[in-house]
Amino acid sequence: MLASTDTFPDESMRPTRVEVDLGQLGRNVQAIQQHVGSARVMAVVKANAYGHGLVPVAHEMVRAGAHSLGVALLEEAVLLREAGITTPILVFGGIAETQIPLFLRHQLTLTAPSVEKLNLIDAAAAAMSTPARVHLKIDTGMERLGIHYYSAERLLEASLKARHVRVEGIYSHFANADAADLSHARLQLERFQEVLSFYEKRSLPPPLRHIANSGGILQLPESHLDLVRPGILLYGVSPSRECPLTLPVRPALTWKSHVAYFKVVQPWHPVSYGSTWVSDHAVRMVTVPVGYGDGYFRALSNRGQVLIRGQRHPIAGRVCMDQVMVNLEWGTAYYRDEVVLLGHQGSESISADDLAEWAGTISYEVLTNINARVPRLYTRSEGP
Ligand SMILES: *Cc1c(COP(=O)(O)O)cnc(C)c1O
Repeated sequence: MLASTDTFPDESMRPTRVEVDLGQLGRNVQAIQQHVGSARVMAVVKANAYGHGLVPVAHEMVRAGAHSLGVALLEEAVLLREAGITTPILVFGGIAETQIPLFLRHQLTLTAPSVEKLNLIDAAAAAMSTPARVHLKIDTGMERLGIHYYSAERLLEASLKARHVRVEGIYSHFANADAADLSHARLQLERFQEVLSFYEKRSLPPPLRHIANSGGILQLPESHLDLVRPGILLYGVSPSRECPLTLPVRPALTWKSHVAYFKVVQPWHPVSYGSTWVSDHAVRMVTVPVGYGDGYFRALSNRGQVLIRGQRHPIAGRVCMDQVMVNLEWGTAYYRDEVVLLGHQGSESISADDLAEWAGTISYEVLTNINARVPRLYTRSEGP
């Protein structure tokens, strides 16, 4: 957040804001836990908890029973530790050698994607006389990070010999578990199981085995294994159009603003940069103080819609950095009326998927793109 709530109490805070219902997020964790039965839940809170706010969301996930937290970067994990969170935190991303001491100092769980990295971690842990918590990363068909499944035995062997490393988990990541065609995901799971047979052959108890992201949780129950890693599903949003939400999770984020200005635009008087919008008749138009400088995509120019007084109204002309114009036609609105950009108003709603479709992207990008200039406010609804 840009400004402290001491300097900017609610009433003087920017009207453009995100409201996050922590109660709903807690219920989403519980719905996922119920669905996966005996598997544990690692709540993925990378990228500012998919735009919902890293620290408050992480606290709520832990409160609601998450076994551990997953983030992409060391920096995200350190922020969580500094906020007093003592739950295990796995950092998914690749590590630079120079970062290892900081991981160890904060008791963070490292991802070891190769024998070389594992040995660097082992050496750093020996030098600091502290055990390193590690999850091994196997690439089963994403070609992103991790040792290939066909050479993974080397890494598993090495992990048995690394004396200062505690291998607490082993994982892989699906490339298309959110698709209608699950053949590639099934192949990935088979390859992962083959790698895991290493432990059985040696009569060793396996560490925590995990591969399921939101798509896997929804569509491939056999992929739940010991731990699941929901991201977008925690936030009540489906991972793709092809993958219906079959759990009782709901969105928890509302992005709203207000009417900052009202005017009548005369016929043939174009609106906004580039004069891309013009009408042959007079219309009522409002200006709303949100723009691409907040993460409201410029691609929504002449395509997006907002809710005012329970009605949908279209964006007129280009989205500016800090403002956007909305065409009411003959509708009414007054100064300071609430404008909903994402979420419910009356019986209407705009979803992250709607915004994604209008802007030509995916819901993940809509949520993570709402930037730090937009203050986050937290509420807590009681469950239905
Ligand atoms: C982001 C991420 C997830 C969560 O993915 P969703 O599709 O949002 O559920 C899980 N695991 C890893 C390694 C990730 O990077």
